[in-house]
Amino acid sequence: MRRIPETITRSIYDTDHFVLVTHIHPDGDALGSMFGLADILECLGKKVFCFVEEPVSQLYAFLPGCVRANTDLEALHTFVRDAGGKVIVIALDSGDDNRLGRHKDDLLALTPCCIVIDHHKAHKEYGEHRWVEPTRSSTGEMVYELAMALGVELTYTSAFHLYVAICTDTGSFRYDSTHARTLRIASELVEAGVNPAEISSKIYDNFTVARLKLLQLVLATMTLYASDQIACIHVTRHMFTESGAAPQDIEGFIDYPRSLQTVKVAVFIKEGQEGQVAVSLRAKGECDVAEVAKLFNGGGHRNAAGFRFAGRNIDQVRGEVLDVLCKVLGNTQCGVAG
Ligand code: 5GP
Ligand code: MN
Repeated sequence: MRRIPETITRSIYDTDHFVLVTHIHPDGDALGSMFGLADILECLGKKVFCFVEEPVSQLYAFLPGCVRANTDLEALHTFVRDAGGKVIVIALDSGDDNRLGRHKDDLLALTPCCIVIDHHKAHKEYGEHRWVEPTRSSTGEMVYELAMALGVELTYTSAFHLYVAICTDTGSFRYDSTHARTLRIASELVEAGVNPAEISSKIYDNFTVARLKLLQLVLATMTLYASDQIACIHVTRHMFTESGAAPQDIEGFIDYPRSLQTVKVAVFIKEGQEGQVAVSLRAKGECDVAEVAKLFNGGGHRNAAGFRFAGRNIDQVRGEVLDVLCKVLGNTQCGVAG
């Protein structure tokens, strides 16, 4: 296990004001680790500003920390000014500075010191003090270790946030990133008062009718390739209009094609605004989809990765991705399974 760089713990002790940021379209780990760390820093008497580019998705509205999420860039600059510029920016769960969103340059220029805490395999170096551990299940797990290193006793709220972070990034402790220490940490969080059943229910039993309708439309697109080893689904903008679902409602849909017994890689192609197409990849250990995503200038983890395309339609993107995946899986031809 890698130790937390001393420069990180020391600069946290020595600083009073922190700006916490995470990746765009933040998921459970991004938000859970950000809000959890905010609670922990406040326990040390620090002042914290949690900046997000867009309001938090309805899927995570149950996180108590949502009240901290601030989209106001002006308010952020006032916070930094009031601190006399003595501020540390901490970027959480973002494997690439470009994933910090459209204000990335502004955020990284707020202070000469940016701490990066991340667990992505395909990590692109940025920031001054970096703690990157790809063997960690989640950034939430790392924030727990940081709290221990800082000598902070976890409150119920910080434990709640960190549990959500770990639970969502491990697919409820199912992925192979779930190590003994992941479960030990989860157990400590339960000791701190977290109720796993309550959190599971808040994460998974939260579908609206519109979201389930969208799922119906998306699953109807499922196509299998390479002797059922690859499953592909897609979502169009029209499906959102038809179902009345929100953009964030697609979270977790890729787990359905991934759940097929024969599937080694699941692909989810998402039509976005202005000719943008986003692709999510999921694997089960055999195929390293982070490497596949890198070929398309994306990134992620061995079993969960993604990338973006511009100026291509869904069919073109599917063709290009299948070409690569079929080669990786050792199939020369990638016909539709009969
Ligand atoms: P998702 O499929 O849930 O959007 O993302 C899965 C994983 O791939 C996440 O860990 C995420 O950070 C990474 N990922 C998704 N899209 C991109 C992208 O466009 N660029 C990079 N570098 N990573 C991505
Ligand atoms: Mn993560």
